[in-house]
Amino acid sequence: MTGLGRHGAAASTALDAALADREWDEQRLRLYRQGRDRLVAEGYVQVSMRMFRRADAPPQGADDYACQTDGMIGLGCGARSYTSTLHYSFDYAVDLREIRTITDDYTATEDFSRAVHGRRVDGAEGHTYTDAEAEQWTAIDPLFPYSRHPHRSAGLPCRTGESVISVDGDGDGTVRRCHFVRSELGNLYDGSYRRALEPRACPLAVCDCHIGYVHLETLPLYDVFAGGVLERIPAAGAARA
Ligand code: SF4
Repeated sequence: MTGLGRHGAAASTALDAALADREWDEQRLRLYRQGRDRLVAEGYVQVSMRMFRRADAPPQGADDYACQTDGMIGLGCGARSYTSTLHYSFDYAVDLREIRTITDDYTATEDFSRAVHGRRVDGAEGHTYTDAEAEQWTAIDPLFPYSRHPHRSAGLPCRTGESVISVDGDGDGTVRRCHFVRSELGNLYDGSYRRALEPRACPLAVCDCHIGYVHLETLPLYDVFAGGVLERIPAAGAARA
């Protein structure tokens, strides 16, 4: 579904390539709609492109979902699932040959009562590292300490909602400041979100996802990752965290 592994696929002309891309997009959209319709028919409500919630689930407020702390059941081959302390997934790969093998195995699977790949975890995002483990990771990635712990963010200035926005992936153009804070700023297509852009403080206690806390103005990460803020590409000679 991702298209990864299709790079380099033989397409003799630009027209062939364009047609192949269109067919691929149409197939993905068709499969997505089949899955969405099945979930809706089973009583789930679509919240975003990827998230469906049971219609009888208790409401928890505007900012009622955080991927760091709430449970999620991933559907399909390669999907990742998690409860507060247990993370598990089906096998997955990005290489086309591996994907085919894994997909064939998944399609032939009839018993989904056990998680084959998973681990019990703790901590705000589900991972904690001993000092010895952190030292090992830091030897590989000197900037690892920035990612070791969630960052306290309550009341701290964050560029999201001012110079950074998040757009829902379901196509309706809903704009939020980030994908953790669920309150809406407006719509991408009618431009209404622009009126809401202003300096803002974070309303949540912690931020433990790089694509979120990288925008905290209290952290030096725009300078550290000047080679690519979202891609986490450090500036040449970025200092150890
Ligand atoms: S710090 Fe994180 S959770 Fe808070 S507003 Fe910024 S991106 Fe969102």
